[in-house]
Amino acid sequence: MAQRDSLIQKKLSAWFHNHGRHDLPWRTSFSPYEVLVSEFMLQQTTVATITPRFLTWMKLFPTLEILAQAPEEAVLKAWQGLGYYARARRLHLVATTVVKNFEGKIPQDLDQLLALPGIGPYTAKALLAFAFDQPVEVLDTNIIRVIARLNNITEPIDTKRGHLLIEESVRNILPPKKGRLFASALMDLGAMVCKSGEPLCETCPLSSECEAEEPSRLPRKQPRVAITKKKEQRAFYYRRNKIYLEKSQGPLWKGLWILPHCTSLQKPREIFSSITYPITRYRVTMELYRPLGSIPKSLHPFSIHELKSIAIPSPHRKALEKCFEQ
Ligand code: SF4
Repeated sequence: MAQRDSLIQKKLSAWFHNHGRHDLPWRTSFSPYEVLVSEFMLQQTTVATITPRFLTWMKLFPTLEILAQAPEEAVLKAWQGLGYYARARRLHLVATTVVKNFEGKIPQDLDQLLALPGIGPYTAKALLAFAFDQPVEVLDTNIIRVIARLNNITEPIDTKRGHLLIEESVRNILPPKKGRLFASALMDLGAMVCKSGEPLCETCPLSSECEAEEPSRLPRKQPRVAITKKKEQRAFYYRRNKIYLEKSQGPLWKGLWILPHCTSLQKPREIFSSITYPITRYRVTMELYRPLGSIPKSLHPFSIHELKSIAIPSPHRKALEKCFEQ
């Protein structure tokens, strides 16, 4: 191993020992189930948001077996507010599959992990590193940023070549043991020192080894896809103290309760209310109407009290709250 790589390992390990985020709740036992839940929650959500939600989740579903036995509705309800509900559904599916095929024990083998429904290369490697302490390259946003800067990788990281360069660079400095410590240290350095935007190079343990020429401009990405505006019309059926919702058939928000579409036949002239929300590459304006005519039989009535205990995606819950305020 090159001298620079071994210095990086040593300095990173010493820095992590003194400054790492050892108090994150999923880092207390590193149980495979806790790592699995934290990795699903952390996809596209911040550590600060996840921390209290992780603790609540563990009270509701303390083991993989209990999660596997829970009804999907309860799992979606517990996930409420974290967004991207497909993640909750996939986590539930992983739990049921592991119970059925692996006697409730999360496998320690990359190919077996990748064969599980809903586990991609990132989550599989995160499990191997954090739960089973294996030396594998875990490429989360923080680690990618540190590596791109450390090695001055200017290739856009969302291209195949850019991704391969990052992967190869991590592999070069991976120690033969202690995969958990190494991945955690790189991740924390990215979150706390080598931050996005302006990094704190003056306090960085790797400043002597770092080759970044313009660190605040790394990592690079391909030009962004433009945000498209969209409109949708939804019906706010509120009759005799009951609100009428439909169960989404997917692909978006599958299994969750949503405000039904308002057809042109049902639509009155006046908009009752509206909200705007972002989703993937869209900015959606949801117009809400109090529809004319009878209530479609496919809708289900709920009392206002019952709304608290069913899974409703955040934009629809906000739209309902706004309607009730009017
Ligand atoms: S010296 Fe600066 S750019 Fe380089 S790894 Fe450290 S914080 Fe990041």
